[in-house]
Amino acid sequence: MKEKLYTIELHDALLSGDECPFCYLERDLEQKAIEFVLGSSYMESDTRDQTDRQGFCRHHTKMMYDYGNSLGNAWILKTRMKHMREGLRKEMAAFKPGASQTSVLGLLRKKEPSGANGTSVGNWIREEEGHCFVCARVDDTYRRVIDTFLYQVKHEKDFLDLVKQSKGFCVHHFADLADACAAGLNEKEQSQVFPVLFEQMNRELDRIQEDIDWLIEKYDYLNKDKDWKNSRDAVQRTMQKLVGGHPADPVFRNQK
Ligand SMILES: [Zn+2]
Ligand SMILES: [Zn+2]
Repeated sequence: MKEKLYTIELHDALLSGDECPFCYLERDLEQKAIEFVLGSSYMESDTRDQTDRQGFCRHHTKMMYDYGNSLGNAWILKTRMKHMREGLRKEMAAFKPGASQTSVLGLLRKKEPSGANGTSVGNWIREEEGHCFVCARVDDTYRRVIDTFLYQVKHEKDFLDLVKQSKGFCVHHFADLADACAAGLNEKEQSQVFPVLFEQMNRELDRIQEDIDWLIEKYDYLNKDKDWKNSRDAVQRTMQKLVGGHPADPVFRNQK
């Protein structure tokens, strides 16, 4: 089956004026996933089976709390707890003191793949923390948006002009885009797309740098009557450019 292309969504995101089209789409996907999970889906056994097994990362747990719906959250937590308790009980029962490879170095390297270091109990917990129902839903579509970008580079001759009109990408998402272009485009296509992307990245980072520099200058009393230019919201835009996301967004809440 042919994968769905997100052509319209990608075009809209590039023209949205956002500092990164992928942040723009990610926000939408994330909010839809939270709405889905705390809508009526939590009473469906196949969804709950997935949320029991996959759980939620800290970021999305916070989003679920902020979104509201105590009863929905309680149902999801009730059976996720059951899943975690069963697994943890088994791990703790099988644990043999002194038999593990625990070392200070192992603890410092806790981000390494499970089994590399640390206790079996610790590794099991970290493994559980390594997946999230919302992240998985968002990532799945995000991958296809990146594929759509490559498809457009290959098939839509004006697509790079559209990219040039956008404000470029945050550094975080740029890593995925650069890797995807290198893996999915042929040499000729790469030699067309990379110079555009790199030149744009330099230009847009220059622009953001100017904005954040001027914000600091504006605090100098000598500049108090000067124009803010584009620096009023430079803090949140610089944060986004560096790490992705929309730090100035209001909390996402259930409006119903
Ligand atoms: Zn981004
Ligand atoms: Zn997550």
